[in-house]
Amino acid sequence: MTFKQTLVRCSALSSYPDCPRRGAARLFQDEIEAAGYALRRTGSGIGASIGTSVHAGAAMTLTEKMLTGRLAPLDAVTDCAVEAFRTETAAGVAYDAETTSAHDAEQQIVKMVRAYQAVIAPAIEPITVEEQLEAETDFGIILTGKSDLLARDDGGLRDLKTGKRQSHHRPQIGGYSLLIQANGLPVTSAHVDFIQRVPVKKPQPEPVTDDYDLAGSEKAALSVLRHIAADIDAFRNGSEELGIEPGDAWAFTANPSSMLCSDKYCAAYGTDFCHEHRKKDQA
Ligand code: SF4
Repeated sequence: MTFKQTLVRCSALSSYPDCPRRGAARLFQDEIEAAGYALRRTGSGIGASIGTSVHAGAAMTLTEKMLTGRLAPLDAVTDCAVEAFRTETAAGVAYDAETTSAHDAEQQIVKMVRAYQAVIAPAIEPITVEEQLEAETDFGIILTGKSDLLARDDGGLRDLKTGKRQSHHRPQIGGYSLLIQANGLPVTSAHVDFIQRVPVKKPQPEPVTDDYDLAGSEKAALSVLRHIAADIDAFRNGSEELGIEPGDAWAFTANPSSMLCSDKYCAAYGTDFCHEHRKKDQA
């Protein structure tokens, strides 16, 4: 059997170690279904939809700054972000306790974009904005992705995150760094800008910026890529050493203790590709 190229998005790297089987169900959905498993389709959550919309506004204003030296007008940026939200959620979205309706979501987006425009965007001189890149790695994997921007002043790779709380993104940031360098641009520092999503009645917190250790982040990315390469190889070809036959779901470790082990987040949940959550339910 021949396999198509193994593509891995940088955005998949940070979550893969949390449950490699859930990660595989996203990364290798076609291949896993071709092996006879029927995976679920997980719907989009409100957090991800708001994140995509805020990114659309940020990309608009930074592209304008890259081209003209000035930020785009605030009204145009918020309109762009709200329009992106309406497109993103046209087929429906699951709301949560922080965002209970489309009306709330649009107000949150406007506040988050304003915070980005006021605090983060003025300090950045971008030389690339959301440029799609890919690069071959030593593991037979093609790494793909687009970081939010590379800044002119300090060669700083920057990525914007939104959400209920801050989390850590070293493998993803390391992946972007490797990707950008493989495409001929120097990266000398890495930063993640975080804008918190809070209920509309609460004041919008100021964005915060975390500096990432570049060498450590790149090592983290390479470590995850090495694991993904070994796992998909065992799934395709089996592993005598591990007692795994070709097509065995156990090529990918399962972690039912993951906070994201649920039908909301996992395409393998409740399918033949993973029975481990049942043990968690029984427990
Ligand atoms: S059901 Fe739970 S253990 Fe199984 S793949 Fe999904 S997250 Fe992992």
